[in-house]
Amino acid sequence: MKPAPFKYLAPNTVEEALTCLVEHGYDAKVLAGGQSLIPVMNFRLAQPAVLVDLNNISELFFIRPDGNGLRMGAMTRQVQVEKDPLVAERAPLVHAAMPWVAYPQVRTRGTFGGSIVHADPSAELPAVCVAMKGRFRLRGLSGERWVSAQDFYVDLFTTALEPDELLVEIALPAMPARSGWSFMEISRRHHDFAMAGVAAVVTMDAAGQCQEARTVFFSVGDGPMYAERAEAILKGTTPTPEAIQQAAEVASQEDVDPGNDIHATAEYRRHLVKVLTQRALEQAFERARGNLGR
Ligand code: FAD
Repeated sequence: MKPAPFKYLAPNTVEEALTCLVEHGYDAKVLAGGQSLIPVMNFRLAQPAVLVDLNNISELFFIRPDGNGLRMGAMTRQVQVEKDPLVAERAPLVHAAMPWVAYPQVRTRGTFGGSIVHADPSAELPAVCVAMKGRFRLRGLSGERWVSAQDFYVDLFTTALEPDELLVEIALPAMPARSGWSFMEISRRHHDFAMAGVAAVVTMDAAGQCQEARTVFFSVGDGPMYAERAEAILKGTTPTPEAIQQAAEVASQEDVDPGNDIHATAEYRRHLVKVLTQRALEQAFERARGNLGR
């Protein structure tokens, strides 16, 4: 398969790239790692007249500390994020999720920002960023704005990014004291897109009660699905196995909206959500208990 003809532009700065986007409007598409865009172009499901390649823009490739959290340039390759010790130390949830994103070959080229903007409802990284209360820096020619990961995802493959804007940076805050996390997914074969998956961050108070339990699912709705009703059950209570079981039941019935496809039925996906919620919350609270003295 070959893509339809297109004009290729390779700017060296964010400013130049933004100028290209303004000049060509809806005819232009940004190229990051190409791991999602190029297959879609090869099938001619997307036929942009102009490709604006970000690969020469060195200011978009970085991982650096930010207080106790970290910041990443949008073009940081997924493999770099996977192997970076700062990410492992400061964002263990991201570190745990990375090996589940596609295959090593895809991660060598694919970018963190590309996965965030592509907004595939089955993708791991959008859910991880929502669970961590990540924020995204979007830049246009007339200025920039920060959008929370939760507000960034609007609908199926739809984000708050405007056509003349670029995602330039991702900020991931440190987890609060007495927090724990968990990442789990179930797919038919390791490396395939998940039939259902979960990223969880929980925080306890000094008395061991649940302060926050952010459970975010992927592959079971139109985007990252933040389980607000399940969280409401746990907040302010001692997270006993019974409370976790109840939250898992509610999450599977009320917080997700799975569909049927060739990989799994909606009913089976709800079952997976229930099992995953229970396992992930147990693990996350266990980790938080280990941090109670901190
Ligand atoms: P591209 O393909 O270059 O771009 C994707 C979209 O984002 C395009 O619309 C592009 O215009 C836009 N875009 C990219 N960067 C920016 C930016 N900075 N600002 C504005 N717009 C931007 N993903 C998963 O999450 N889980 C998986 O299990 C998984 N499995 C895969 C298996 C295979 C075989 C393949 C080929 C891909 C798989 N992927 C999976 C997708 C992979 O993670 C991609 O790398 C990722 O979704 C897109 O990143 P990219 O850098 O390749 O972006």
